[in-house]
Amino acid sequence: MVRYTSTSPFSPENCASAITRTLRVNDILRGVGSATSRALDFLFPRICVGCGRIGDYICVTCAAHMPLLHGPICPHCGQPQASGILCPLCAGQLSSISSIRSVFRFEGIVRAAIHELKYRNLRAIAPTLAAYLGAYALENGALADFVVPVPLHPQRERRRGYNQAELLARELGYAQGTPAAVSSLKRTGGGASQVRTGSMSERRRNVADAFTCMDASFSGKRILLVDDVCTTGATLEACAVALRAAGASDVYGLTVAREV
Ligand SMILES: [Zn+2]
Ligand SMILES: [Zn+2]
Repeated sequence: MVRYTSTSPFSPENCASAITRTLRVNDILRGVGSATSRALDFLFPRICVGCGRIGDYICVTCAAHMPLLHGPICPHCGQPQASGILCPLCAGQLSSISSIRSVFRFEGIVRAAIHELKYRNLRAIAPTLAAYLGAYALENGALADFVVPVPLHPQRERRRGYNQAELLARELGYAQGTPAAVSSLKRTGGGASQVRTGSMSERRRNVADAFTCMDASFSGKRILLVDDVCTTGATLEACAVALRAAGASDVYGLTVAREV
């Protein structure tokens, strides 16, 4: 375990230009596409998860109202708070993760989009959400040697058929030209849902030893750890412990949304 240092590549507040950039990303997404995907769009038209309009998974109108996570945040865990200093929880404890950032609040259209991705098999929305992650990482200079998804518990992944964080990490890695190491970090326990289970300390205990990583190629490397939603940061922290044990020099957590 290492004490938190201010090595985060994320500047805490950089949202204004992120908005224009993310909208530009949407334009790019809309403008490109193989003949196959265009044909599929014709057969299975994209429907906006916010308003139902046909054309995109998130239409231009809804994209303009995405709930960006504005305002002061704890520079370590990314939790919104009244001032931009370390929150009481981070000030008083050791951590293996360098910083956690989330692009959006987990509400409104973002909640709907993630719900579709996780529970309604809308895997095709992953590139759209990953584009927001990519724009945020670019905007904030989050350089990494590997992109790593938070693993699902194997049982849950078998039931779902895929890991939504892996879809996001693959898309983000592809867009950034950074290798996505999708099977190096493994989940061996902590299957209980992190959403609404007990206190912060209970959540930390629940996932404390749930992850393992034996990938020697992570030695001395910077890892961008990706997930769809950050609830308390306990899962990202537990992943970071395993990644640091494998020799990673820095681990930055980046999620599409944060429960606030
Ligand atoms: Zn819409
Ligand atoms: Zn904090």
